[in-house]
Amino acid sequence: MHWLKHKLAQQRQHNRYRQRHSFDGPQQVHSVLNGQPVTSFCSNDYLGLANHPEIKTAFQQGIAQWGVGAGAAHLLNGHRRPHAELEAALAEWLGQPRALLFSTGYMANLAIATALVGKGDSIIQDRLNHASMIDGAQLSAARLLRYQHADADSLQRQLAQASGNVLVMTDGVFSMEGDIAPLPALAAHCRARDALLMVDDAHGLGVLGDKCGAGSVAQAGLSAEDVPLVMGTLGKALGGFGAFVAGHEDVIDALMQFARSYIYTTASPPALACANLAALRLAQRDTWRREKLQALIGQFKAGAAQLGLALMPSDTPIQPIRIGDDGRCAQLGQALLSAGFHVAAVRAPTVPAGTARLRITLSAAHNDEDIEQLLSALQYLL
Ligand SMILES: *Cc1c(COP(=O)(O)O)cnc(C)c1O
Repeated sequence: MHWLKHKLAQQRQHNRYRQRHSFDGPQQVHSVLNGQPVTSFCSNDYLGLANHPEIKTAFQQGIAQWGVGAGAAHLLNGHRRPHAELEAALAEWLGQPRALLFSTGYMANLAIATALVGKGDSIIQDRLNHASMIDGAQLSAARLLRYQHADADSLQRQLAQASGNVLVMTDGVFSMEGDIAPLPALAAHCRARDALLMVDDAHGLGVLGDKCGAGSVAQAGLSAEDVPLVMGTLGKALGGFGAFVAGHEDVIDALMQFARSYIYTTASPPALACANLAALRLAQRDTWRREKLQALIGQFKAGAAQLGLALMPSDTPIQPIRIGDDGRCAQLGQALLSAGFHVAAVRAPTVPAGTARLRITLSAAHNDEDIEQLLSALQYLL
């Protein structure tokens, strides 16, 4: 395994070496790292639900009633009433006929790309899609085509090239950019070609969609006919863990019959479904969280513009600052951490080489002072 030593040294040399931090406490905005207080600006806990008492109670009661393990895959005897109730609630939330739970969003995206299309078919993806969709396409027997980021005309050109049945996959909110896919235009092109449009709404669900946080599809005013397939995660704005696919009856049925990352894996703990259901109710009900988040986004953007920071065109809680060089970006991340702010320094290959960025994420659990203090630190360091 001498070759690994070499590869790891290279990773260090290129300033791409990844490291974990062990926090002394639960996920929340104000935490402790190595005995020092830190304010986090890098979680995806956009609504501040990960440590919410109502959800914790639902989890504990779920364990008391349903135990810990599910015992087997969903198609054996792992499927229990809390799973079924959560699936029904998720489908209703998104206005889709049916939903299917997955252990993770990563596995859900592998399922979609491999089970719904195959040999002779095509998958068309936005160039900046999340790694899990790219990996799904690598695993799929279908041919992968890619279009320019958030460019519906570019999609149209690729649709004209595509053979067989066509699956189009896009992030709803792009995870490293924070911008929103042009869903109405994408949906129109897909309809014209009879292509199946799938939206990965990992970062839109709970955050976008004014009334009840039903995500980027709802915010775009689109229906289940326009977007017959949505993937959502339960570990981001919902503060829990897991994922689901909501969509047309036939889509869900095909996933259950053919998706290997659904069939050959243990069902997630039923108590987790109890917790996720409590989170869903809170995310629907507490519109103030979305409103507060929007106000904080506005405050951050206005402050950053005043400082002349290179923000990207985003109106979502993902507010990256363009740095460019991997080494400088890593240094800035370190400096911010020393100053008590945890911000992700995102480098290649997560983003294209030369486009390293500080990925700042905001949460409804932040307050005005958190934003002001971060802006002061950025002013000092940049
Ligand atoms: C986080 C994420 C996933 C993966 O979801 P997990 O449940 O964390 O595996 C998929 N797609 C996007 C866009 C994501 O941000």
